[in-house]
Amino acid sequence: MPTDREFTKILKWPGYQVYGHEIDEKAKVLRLWVRRKRGNRQIECSGCGRKFTQIYDVSERAVRDLPWSEFQTTVFIEIYRVKCPECGVKREKVLQLPSKAPFSKRFEDAVGLACESAAARQVARQWGLPASTVRAIDLRYLERWNAARRKPALRHMGVDEIHLGKKQKFLTVVSNLESTEPLWFGQERKKETLDEFFRTQLSAKQRRGIEAACVDMWEPYRLSIEEWVPNCRVVYDKFHVMQHANGAIDEVRRAEFFRKGGRMRGLVKGKRWLLLSRWVNLSWTRRQELNHLFALNRKLLKAYLLKESLDRLWSYYYEGAMLRYLQSWIDQLRWQRLKPFEKLARMLLDHLEGILNHCRTKVRMGVVEAVNGNIKALLRRGRGYKNLRYLLLKAQRMAATKTEFVVLKKAA
Ligand SMILES: [Zn+2]
Repeated sequence: MPTDREFTKILKWPGYQVYGHEIDEKAKVLRLWVRRKRGNRQIECSGCGRKFTQIYDVSERAVRDLPWSEFQTTVFIEIYRVKCPECGVKREKVLQLPSKAPFSKRFEDAVGLACESAAARQVARQWGLPASTVRAIDLRYLERWNAARRKPALRHMGVDEIHLGKKQKFLTVVSNLESTEPLWFGQERKKETLDEFFRTQLSAKQRRGIEAACVDMWEPYRLSIEEWVPNCRVVYDKFHVMQHANGAIDEVRRAEFFRKGGRMRGLVKGKRWLLLSRWVNLSWTRRQELNHLFALNRKLLKAYLLKESLDRLWSYYYEGAMLRYLQSWIDQLRWQRLKPFEKLARMLLDHLEGILNHCRTKVRMGVVEAVNGNIKALLRRGRGYKNLRYLLLKAQRMAATKTEFVVLKKAA
């Protein structure tokens, strides 16, 4: 049987020694009793960090620590309280006890790390904990990581919206396009939503540092940006514009579906995904399917080609060339009687400056889309993101560690 000294060496809690142990072989549980080493008398108030030599009282707490082989380990630790002139009677600060929850820091770190690559429910099963406890541990783990890290300056911001469903509706997502991470979530997608971000999250100096914003052609966002960061360049990026192009093609599809009866209706039905896909991403069979559809419906073919060719607008780096390409794209619409695309063309002309800003400001492309995709993947994978703070930290951590950087391939 190991001695307390040996247990102290294996446990390795700096400043603490084991003074009692118990091994329950049947239940596979190891219990260790620890207290401060003789020389360790620096007692710190957990409220303000003030140092004390006098203690107010002593109590014992049980916390779960990392398992030793197949033994689940519980550590009983002596905890002091101090009488602090600032905070009153307060618990001392203990490195291995970051919160009031009955887990050691390294136990929480291990659970949090496991949550980076698996759903909370799986981690719960693996560690023998309720899923709600795992989520709470993960949230604290992420809060600690977030508090300790350096946050990069915001020069290029992205603003996007995510549709959560009928009840919660929209979530506004602000992201840092350079560090590729989401920064803030706001309810709904009003001007007031984005106003709140500028007002509560940034100082006047930080606001002045913002050079460009990639946003959707959505009036409330533009108005908010003009009010709070008037010197910032608004860029209507490819991702957001192409979303509108996809909306237009979907409208054409639905109109054709209702206009034509019988056989055609059967053909167009269920082709939504196919029509929204980019040609280069489709397999040979899928392309044949589309070709078959286009042979029967010229309008859909035209709409599809228009969407595909609009994509090329962002391959230009000179304003003049970009503008010429846009003009020739709009010219193609003549006599086509594709109302949704005419509407889109008017929208593009109304937002021309912001579209041409693509040539004036170098902003990383595809980041808004990737951040959006990551958040949606998180939402799909695990329930339990009713807590938006948790969802935000999770998505930030994902961006920082570059785990599972989701790039949407299917629906372009
Ligand atoms: Zn204090």
